[in-house]
Amino acid sequence: MELHEMIEAVQRALGVQVDGRAGTETWGAIYAALVQKSIAGSPPEQAIAKVDDRSEANITTLLPEVQPLARALVQKAATNGIQIKVISGLRTYAEQDALYAKGRSEPGKKVTNAKGGYSNHNFGIAFDIGVFSGNRYLGDAPQYKAVGALGMELGLEWGGSWTSIADQPHFQLRPSWAAALTEKQMLAQLRDRVSAGTAVFA
Ligand SMILES: [Zn+2]
Repeated sequence: MELHEMIEAVQRALGVQVDGRAGTETWGAIYAALVQKSIAGSPPEQAIAKVDDRSEANITTLLPEVQPLARALVQKAATNGIQIKVISGLRTYAEQDALYAKGRSEPGKKVTNAKGGYSNHNFGIAFDIGVFSGNRYLGDAPQYKAVGALGMELGLEWGGSWTSIADQPHFQLRPSWAAALTEKQMLAQLRDRVSAGTAVFA
């Protein structure tokens, strides 16, 4: 089989114009079929380019299944004219306990209601973003809602859609086994998996 025949066969399979030459339309269809599908499923990490250093430092703490989605969100937001950075990723149980102590046994305001093992951040499936204007962090901005919609398009769960305690900067990838579980049930399972040494996404 000659190369142009292979390209024609691929073009027929993709439903684009069959001319044996792979131009923009064909590559666009190949990209949509392979890369975008893999963003929603379990994406190959190398398919998505690295983002800014601060985001990368947090993204690399996440599980490999979650990392490309976090990168994709930063890029998708940028495409939509919104500059975001991933400002928080994995927290160990000990780090979570230290946060929980704030405003309780330690001075300051309360920052979380979750002890170690009771936050999705403790399992590498969750991350928080910040909206930025240049170097300025915007803690409260209408862009968070727009980014939330983009995240959900990627298959992420968005904290802003929670009815109990809406958390607009928060995103997480819910494992498929947890699709029908409540947050509380999912967290209990996650803790069991970690103590049993079972992979979160297995
Ligand atoms: Zn969060």
